[in-house]
Amino acid sequence: MPSCRLMRKNKLSGMTNGATARLGWALSCPLSLYVHIPFCVRKCPYCAFYSITASPEDMDKYLDALGQELQLWTSLSGDKLHAQTLYIGGGTPTVLSAKQWEKLILILERYVDFLPFLEASVEANPGSLRADHIRLWRSWKITRVSLGAQSLDEGELNWLRRPHNAYDVADSLAALVASGQDVSVDLLFGLPGQTIQSWHRTIKDCLRFGIRHLSIYELTLEENTPWGENPPKGLTASYPLYRFAQWYLPKRGFTHYEIASFSLPGHWCRHNIAYWQGENFLGIGASAWGYLDGYRYGNVKDIKIYVKKISEGKLAIADEELLPTEQAARESAVLALRTMWGVSGRFFRRRWGWKAYRDFCDTWRGLPEDCKITCHGRYALSPKGFRVANSLWEEFL
Ligand code: SF4
Repeated sequence: MPSCRLMRKNKLSGMTNGATARLGWALSCPLSLYVHIPFCVRKCPYCAFYSITASPEDMDKYLDALGQELQLWTSLSGDKLHAQTLYIGGGTPTVLSAKQWEKLILILERYVDFLPFLEASVEANPGSLRADHIRLWRSWKITRVSLGAQSLDEGELNWLRRPHNAYDVADSLAALVASGQDVSVDLLFGLPGQTIQSWHRTIKDCLRFGIRHLSIYELTLEENTPWGENPPKGLTASYPLYRFAQWYLPKRGFTHYEIASFSLPGHWCRHNIAYWQGENFLGIGASAWGYLDGYRYGNVKDIKIYVKKISEGKLAIADEELLPTEQAARESAVLALRTMWGVSGRFFRRRWGWKAYRDFCDTWRGLPEDCKITCHGRYALSPKGFRVANSLWEEFL
C-alpha cells in the first residue's frame, strides 16, 4: 500500500496498482454498506450534520449520482458488492417520495448482492414518514427502522424546533411496530426543564409501543450551528438522566450494549457493531465516510460538487488517509470499548501485534478501577466507565 502521504496526495484514481488491487479485494469481500440521504424538511438549530432542503428534481439527480458512485466502486471490485448489512441514513431518508424510494431500491439491487440474513436499516422521521414508505420497506429487504423521535414531550419538541409533534411520533411508532419491523427510537436528553420524571415518562411511553431498541444522545452544542454560536439557556445536567436510563432500561429487559444504545437481547444494530468492531464499510453519498482495510475516506459534503464529480466519472473523495498501524490499533480499541463486548486481548494481538497490545495494556492499567472490567482476557468499560467515557478516550488517543 502507498504511504499515508502519498494517499493524501493522490485521490483514489491515482493509487498504485498494488493499493488498488488491495482495495478491490476488500470490496469483493462481504462488507457493510452505508447510503447517505442528505435532505431534510428544514434544518434543526443544533444539527452539525451536513443536510439541506432540496427540490424533487435535485433529489432525483442525487439518486442518479448514488448509482454512478456504486458503479465506480464495483468497477474496482470487478463484481457486485456483497453487503451483509445496509444502513440508509441522513439527513431524513423519508423526505424521499415512495417513487424515489423505488428508484433507490432499483439502483441498490443493480450493484449490490444482499447476503442471506441481511440486516437492512433505514432512518425515518415522524412527520415525513408515510404509509407508502412502510409498505415498500416491508415488501423489500428493510428489517429495521430507526425513528428520530427525540422526545415524546410536546414542550420539548417545540423547544427543539422539530418539524413534528408528539402525535406524529405516536402515529409513526404504532404504524412501524404494527408492520413487524424491528423499531428503534432516538431520544435526546439534557433539554431545558427535563426532569427525571419527564425523562422516565418519555422512555416508558416509547417502550409501551413495543420498540426493541433505543439510542439516547446528550444534546451537544456543536460549533458552526446556530445554537453552537448562540447557546440556549437552561440546559439540564445530563449525567443524572443518563444514569437513570442505565438503571431503568435493564429493569425493562434492555441490555446497555453500547454507550448510547440499549436493546432487547439479540436486537442490537449489527451495522453499527460492524463499525465499532473495525470491520470494512463502504459509505456512499455526499459527506459519507468509509473504511476499507486501513484506508479511510470521506466524500465531499456539497451535493452539487458531489453530483458534478460523480457525473464526470470520478469518485467524490475529499479526504483520505491510510492509517498507520499504531493509530489504527488505538482507534480500534476506542471503538471496541464503546461496546459491552469491549476488546478481546487475543483478537487485538492477532490483528495489531504485540507492541500495540502492550501499549493498550499500559493505558488500560492507568484507568480508574471503577471504570473498567477485566475478565478472561477481555477488557470492557463498567457502567461508570460508560458514563465518563469521553474523559477516558483521551488516555488512548
Ligand atoms: S432532522 Fe436530523 S439530520 Fe435533519 S437537520 Fe434535524 S437533526 Fe439534522
